[in-house]
Amino acid sequence: MRQTSAFLLTIAAIFVLFTVDASAISVRWPAESMELDVQFDTSAHTVNGVAKMYLSLDGPKSVGFLLNNSFTVSSITANGQDCELKSHADYDPSEVSDAYGVYGKWETSKALFWYTQIPKKALRNRDAMLVEVKFSGKMYSPPDNRKFSREEIAFEVDGTIGKEGIFLSSGAFWYPILPDATSPYKITARVPKGWNFVTNGASSAPTTVGDFTQVTYTADFPSNGIDLSAGPFVIKSIQHEGITVSTYFLPAEADLADGYLDACKNYLTMYSNLIGKYPFPKFAVVDNFMPSGYGMPGWTLLGSEVLRLPFIKSTSLGHEILHNWFGNGILVDYREGNWCEGLTTYLADYKYKADADSAAAVDYRNNNLREFADYVNAENDYPVKEFVGRTNQADRAIGYGKVMMIFHMLKTMYDQEDTTLFNKVIQQAYKDNLGKPMSWFQWRQIFERRFGQKIDWFFAQWLDRKGIPSIRIENGSVQHDQGTWVAEFDVITAPVDPKPYTFPLNIRGVTDEGQFDYSVFIMESPQRVSLAGPGYLEFLRADPACNLFRVLYPEEAPLTLAAFIGDKEGILVVPAKGALAAGYKEAAEGLKTPGQTVITDAEFKPEMASKSLWLFGSPEENSVTAKMVPDKERMEFLPGKPARWKEEDPTPPGLGFRAEEFRNGAFTATMIFPNPKDVTKSVVYTVSLPGASPVGGTRKIPHYGKYSYLMFEGETNVRKGAWAAAGKCPMVWEAPAVPEGEKW
Ligand SMILES: [Zn+2]
Repeated sequence: MRQTSAFLLTIAAIFVLFTVDASAISVRWPAESMELDVQFDTSAHTVNGVAKMYLSLDGPKSVGFLLNNSFTVSSITANGQDCELKSHADYDPSEVSDAYGVYGKWETSKALFWYTQIPKKALRNRDAMLVEVKFSGKMYSPPDNRKFSREEIAFEVDGTIGKEGIFLSSGAFWYPILPDATSPYKITARVPKGWNFVTNGASSAPTTVGDFTQVTYTADFPSNGIDLSAGPFVIKSIQHEGITVSTYFLPAEADLADGYLDACKNYLTMYSNLIGKYPFPKFAVVDNFMPSGYGMPGWTLLGSEVLRLPFIKSTSLGHEILHNWFGNGILVDYREGNWCEGLTTYLADYKYKADADSAAAVDYRNNNLREFADYVNAENDYPVKEFVGRTNQADRAIGYGKVMMIFHMLKTMYDQEDTTLFNKVIQQAYKDNLGKPMSWFQWRQIFERRFGQKIDWFFAQWLDRKGIPSIRIENGSVQHDQGTWVAEFDVITAPVDPKPYTFPLNIRGVTDEGQFDYSVFIMESPQRVSLAGPGYLEFLRADPACNLFRVLYPEEAPLTLAAFIGDKEGILVVPAKGALAAGYKEAAEGLKTPGQTVITDAEFKPEMASKSLWLFGSPEENSVTAKMVPDKERMEFLPGKPARWKEEDPTPPGLGFRAEEFRNGAFTATMIFPNPKDVTKSVVYTVSLPGASPVGGTRKIPHYGKYSYLMFEGETNVRKGAWAAAGKCPMVWEAPAVPEGEKW
């Protein structure tokens, strides 16, 4: 699922000056606070409201704001004095302030700029500067107009008012707004009777006013825009560690509330302990009638069909909750790029895997590197400091994947000093920057302070440079003497222009006595390295656990069953005849994925041999298997033998499976190999011994896609594993074999 967060959607900018007809207008801003009173008519799709902006007593003598260009302003007063309002659409916000872009760049094509002189009489009041704007407008997007793409950006609609619900983001300019990160606000809204709404802050109890339900929210925490969602919600709330945790679900999803409340409690506790106190008075999960997901300060909007997905509570919900610390708690200074998606991914999506199992953590990083290789190329690559938000897979690979790896590399470096340092940096950053915009530069300062040394080279190379370094080991030699080895080799990194990448490199030496890990600091290319250890060296492997953001070679990804499962042209070949033929057919039908076909060996045509194939049955059962037998060392079909004398029982057929022999049992083995006719394709073999059910022995395989071989007894998995990633990639240097006779 693709989601975005509202701080991306509501990206704002502070601009103090607007240029009009070459003469600059200074407007008094930001508002010190704002009060909004609005009423919605869902039949007419309209909002009517009054905005009270409390401005500072000093400053420019003009007031200005942006409003949706289809809306109207019926009056504006300053301290009760009528003002003469002018509008104009032709301004360039980027020219008006040094602070422009702190919260990103607004898409202002739908907004009109209004401004007025503050009357002299109003300026004489030294107690307050209250500007009051009455406004109204219509905003509607019929449900069938709303597009949602999982691959591309998730939001197409920034505001709609209708009978199915109300959704208004500040990017819709639905109230008078000048981009402003520091205004607390209070909003009173009247929605259809029986409905409720959610925005930032703490909510009053609902009251009935005529045909409306009225609720007031007080949002003391600074935010850079007002987002609001309303609907006929069923509300469930609990108190947890001083936080009001609620679900605002549409009636169809109301049964899901308890599960979500429990999950929210766990995340809120986990992240409060990890980072610091949760910054908002409430957290609400809000059902969105539109198919999208956003993370706002103190609430998250999730589409109805998304809420129903079983894995959301264990993945995306935690990610959105973490945005309350990163993105909404600490805001992002977008002028140096958006660090917050990568960090949120690191401490949510990635952390959940890594906490469960360290192999899953390596897989996640490996996958990250693969995604960068798959989606980023010379045309669409850009430096991390230019990442703002996600619009496609390349943005994701850069702004989420690469940034996540930047935090991971920092943690790996800091862990070598002290494994608590990284968490202390995160906690310090949160303490120092809560409620303020934070830049990459500030991250660097905090990391350096905790580390006690400058690491500007690290930030410069990962933030300012685009691309990804590759690493090779070459020109190796090894000497064995008196039970030890000494190896010398070059570590070559590319590109070297404008200068070589600098990084700590983990190198693993695999020997006949086990494996030994070394850390080498790489600063030039080529860099000559010398390592030593006990035993006979077999090979060296650089960065075995994918701790660096670097080129992943195709040979580093082990071939697993996922390769066949993901191949839309895969062909599953079952025996046409034999005792297990029907079982194999049923198993194959259950395993095939969209696009794949199931045929019998009698229907097999020679040109199919170079496709990805899944062959069911032994060579005796399946004529295609007989022609394409697998590597015997790994999988061997052992035929049965007749009794040699009267008293002997015949030997049933069996299986050699990775140097083990299986006979007499309900065993089903599955193993994948590269297809010798086309190594980018695969051949999977599945064979059941006579006592086994092919269906039972393969039913769970879709959950075991990350393995290369599986053995089930009945339906119970008894052996599983993945092939080691092929050894001969440029990250590996193989030592010449020492002849047995020359060993000590
Ligand atoms: Zn996010």
